[in-house]
Amino acid sequence: MKAEIISEINNKVSDLQSGLFNLSQDIHDHPELGYHEFETVKKIKNYLRTQDVEVEDNFCDIPTAFKTSFVQGKPKVHFAVLAEFDALPKIGHGCGHNIIATAAIGTFLACRQVMKKYNIDGKVSLIGSPAEEGGGGKIKLLERGAFKDVDASMMVHPTSGTTRIAGRCTATYNLEIEYIGQAAHAASQPFKGHNALDAANLFFVAIGLLRQQLTSDVRLSGIIDDGGNVTNVIPDHTKISFSLRCLEETELKDLIEKVKNCVNGAAMATGCEAKIIEKPGYAARVYNQTLGNVCRKALEDLGEPVLSGFPDDFGSTDFGNISQIMPTTNPYFSLHKTRTSLHTAEYEKLSGTDVSHKAISRSAKAMARTIIECLVDPDLMEKILNEKNTFNDVNKRPR
Ligand SMILES: [Zn+2]
Ligand SMILES: [Zn+2]
Repeated sequence: MKAEIISEINNKVSDLQSGLFNLSQDIHDHPELGYHEFETVKKIKNYLRTQDVEVEDNFCDIPTAFKTSFVQGKPKVHFAVLAEFDALPKIGHGCGHNIIATAAIGTFLACRQVMKKYNIDGKVSLIGSPAEEGGGGKIKLLERGAFKDVDASMMVHPTSGTTRIAGRCTATYNLEIEYIGQAAHAASQPFKGHNALDAANLFFVAIGLLRQQLTSDVRLSGIIDDGGNVTNVIPDHTKISFSLRCLEETELKDLIEKVKNCVNGAAMATGCEAKIIEKPGYAARVYNQTLGNVCRKALEDLGEPVLSGFPDDFGSTDFGNISQIMPTTNPYFSLHKTRTSLHTAEYEKLSGTDVSHKAISRSAKAMARTIIECLVDPDLMEKILNEKNTFNDVNKRPR
């Protein structure tokens, strides 16, 4: 790509950056939870209006989702950049979604600028996806057709340590387990009872033993929501909330079966009845190496050190569901050299200080360059679309 296009992108983001920093700070200082990000979205819309951008409200019938697109000429490629903006209960912006949102806005505006100036054909969309923290906003958007004509997408996430282009992250699946037993006096006639707490205990013992036969990427965690009421009654009801995670979507089915066998084995051993409610979570994230390496080069050219390869994460994201159906890349931009966990008060502070500014401007520059490279280079786009082994199911692609 011509050097002057790259400098135009960088100059545009530099021009925008003080406005983006202010917007990021404002979002950070007024956190809102998933699907309730009304004031946040209002601020984003007001900012975009100052840049002559109108957004589609209530996108896909989700009140805090939005979309805006810029189309130039006859687009062959439609690229989406995603903005998250929800916060966490009690912690606020401890996941730095204020940075994700403003970097995505900068990306969109820089793309529009160079597409206009250099007559670059293509379509670029900015999609505001609410409720990443457990609400699955992108899954709802996906189900309602928001991505049906999108060819590829990307988003940045803040991190700490060294900046990286993210590899896989875990798929999640949740089970609500209930044991129904038979109550009895715990001292005078315990032999008449079927102890639902024994079933719950046995389940956790079985899970503990199961771990040895599982691959090291698997994460199993659970809590007892209801463990009985009083000590002198054999509990006739217990309830467990349980989560499964693993890196490969294809392994998840087998893992769910193994955990269900533990549930049912514990029921059989204690004479209780087991009920399981299944709640699918987020899909595993897969990654496109070709697209990721374009973004890596863009970041490195800006002076940002980037870890080699595509390191795995053990968290989960609803961007995983998007990555299953189209080429995606997910740069993780470091705010701080010392590793600091996301979802903590420390990280909330970092996301609202000046260290977040470099993350916003550099990732906007790198993402805009990545998108424009895809628009101007049909061979590159072809290679990205045809890359094997990064999708679990190529037939699920929107087109
Ligand atoms: Zn988070
Ligand atoms: Zn996050």
